[in-house]
Amino acid sequence: MHEALQYAKLEDRKVQCSLCAHRCLIKEGSHGICGVRLNREGVLYAATYGRVSADAVDPIEKKPLYHILPATLSYSLGSVGCNFHCEHCQNWHISRAGVDDMGLMDLAPETGVSRAKERRCASISWTYNEPTMWHEYALDMGRLARKEGLGTVYVTNGYITEEALTELSPMLNAFRVDIKAFTDEFYKKTCGAKLQPVLDASVKARELGMHIEVVHLVIPGLNDDPEESGALIRWIIDNLGPETPFHITRFHPDYHMQDRGPTPVQTLEKIYRMARELGLRYPYLGNVFQHRWESTYCPKCGELLIERSGFSARIRNLKDNRCEKCGEKIPYISHV
Ligand code: SF4
Repeated sequence: MHEALQYAKLEDRKVQCSLCAHRCLIKEGSHGICGVRLNREGVLYAATYGRVSADAVDPIEKKPLYHILPATLSYSLGSVGCNFHCEHCQNWHISRAGVDDMGLMDLAPETGVSRAKERRCASISWTYNEPTMWHEYALDMGRLARKEGLGTVYVTNGYITEEALTELSPMLNAFRVDIKAFTDEFYKKTCGAKLQPVLDASVKARELGMHIEVVHLVIPGLNDDPEESGALIRWIIDNLGPETPFHITRFHPDYHMQDRGPTPVQTLEKIYRMARELGLRYPYLGNVFQHRWESTYCPKCGELLIERSGFSARIRNLKDNRCEKCGEKIPYISHV
């Protein structure tokens, strides 16, 4: 097994992990809340290093990421384990699994990078389960990927500590973060976590120069109060900037949350309008079938710039990061 980074050795062979905001104190023979960082004789091990539950070539729009490497493919990797226990998890079969619960494929960092290039991907995404648990592996693969000119993407719940994020920052281009709600109550009850560390990590990722996009899954009756949505949008504008892409996505019943239906599209549309009115320049709807607000429009003149349908994207009236109609500068990253 691979020794972990980001931990301290304590007395009586205990260790304290500093990878995520849980900062688990782990006795010898035990594991942290994520289930995949193990204390063996006073040494912390990253049990999932190089152990892959799924690899696939996805459009980068599927992450979703709309303002970096648009209309390209991303070599996407997942493992098992998670530091959140969300009741509505869509990937519960891997997030709740342990290393011995399913057949995992061994994939060396070098092989991952070669596969990404062979499959004509422009980036590598650590996704499907929480990538923070994969810190050492993502670091090793990401450093190689950057040398080969590939982009690097975390699809994350944002519960990473400042020190771990700083360690990642030289190799990580994009931090696609879920802000699941804007109340601590939701985070505690539904995810087994807290809100503030997610906000802190998002601000830190921005300070470290990463490209950030925020996903907000709207769940009927749990986080769809317009006041809460407004507070979240204002926080994003003030702390991450009005040009931060904001994906307002539709809930579908899953895992332990089967007691409510999908989010009405009108609810999502109301939040979209609110976001525009409050000053966010690039809100989007997600998990909706062929909606015009999946596409990118010029915030100044309204021209269609990147047309999206499902996971396909076509650049329309956009050249050299400018709207071809009015010349407005549009923030997106076409090369890394
Ligand atoms: S990564 Fe987080 S949940 Fe896992 S052991 Fe470390 S502090 Fe605990």
